[in-house]
Amino acid sequence: MTNFPVFDGHNDTLLRLYFSENENEQSFFDETGFHIDMTKAKKGEFGGGFFAMFTPNENYEVEPEDYMTDDGYDVPLPPQISHEAALRHTNALAAKLIKTEKESKGAFKIVRTANELTHCLENNIIAAIFHMEGAEAIDTDFDALHVLHQAGLRSLGIVWSRQNVFGEGVPFRYPSSPDIGAGLTDAGKQLVRECNRLGIMIDNTHLNEKGFWDVVKLTDAPLVATHSNVHAICPISRNLTDKQLAAIQESNGVAGINYAVNMLREDGGLGTDIPLDKIVRHIAYIAEKFGVDHVALGSDFDGTAIPDELQNAAGLPKLTDRLKAYGFHDDELRKITHQNWERVLRDTWK
Ligand SMILES: [Zn+2]
Repeated sequence: MTNFPVFDGHNDTLLRLYFSENENEQSFFDETGFHIDMTKAKKGEFGGGFFAMFTPNENYEVEPEDYMTDDGYDVPLPPQISHEAALRHTNALAAKLIKTEKESKGAFKIVRTANELTHCLENNIIAAIFHMEGAEAIDTDFDALHVLHQAGLRSLGIVWSRQNVFGEGVPFRYPSSPDIGAGLTDAGKQLVRECNRLGIMIDNTHLNEKGFWDVVKLTDAPLVATHSNVHAICPISRNLTDKQLAAIQESNGVAGINYAVNMLREDGGLGTDIPLDKIVRHIAYIAEKFGVDHVALGSDFDGTAIPDELQNAAGLPKLTDRLKAYGFHDDELRKITHQNWERVLRDTWK
């Protein structure tokens, strides 16, 4: 075992694998052009993370660049998608995850308990959490929730930014507060209670601020945002205000720092030629103001534009080195790279 395996809050690698099928089907074990594959994971001491099931809108391409002005940007959200389409797509991505585990000959495991996660991290097995980003695949009777839980679902984002029957997320707006739109619907509130009962982690990333405070009132688990940064540094709608970070701290939860350049940069810009110290700055802010127990990593690998210097998962040791150079001690580095996620999941999964 390495000292600092990175257990990561969010990746979209399953979606990349899914879309690679038509021209040239790729697997996790090929050398791909993606941010994460087996070779890069081994090289970068990537210990695993939350593998997202996300359903994009069909035939809907929006380029943030097209909305850039001197004052910032406000990228419109796509329309809602149907439950049926989302469930079909989620099944396809879940099948990819299950097949990856089968093909791995023991090197990649879908983890369902905290003990399984710890075992994987201690034995260089890539630990994958079956995570859903946006709950459109869940019906309001929660039948799919129960079936998917049996299949391994252990983490759920109520919304990706797009609105659904459970709540509203934030559009990608800079500069902007995350307080945009209404709170959770009655179905959304029931979903929080049902996830608590089943021991499924609720992910507050992408949720708007009213929805976030609804979750705070309802949940009995630590508060989590898998891939969101510090609003006080980069005031984009997707980042967490100090008030939200204080609530995460109070609940003994965690925020995973996203490597998306427009969520790291003070100016919200899309340029990727930025130093890794921009990531360190967000981590240090939370560690110093709210405590090192409440910050972790949430790369958004294969879902966003990241700093050139990092390149992909193989570059993670550069980030660990930079954190060390900043002054984090080994015990703090272990918390940031994997132990905080382990603690929160142990407290959440029952
Ligand atoms: Zn996301």
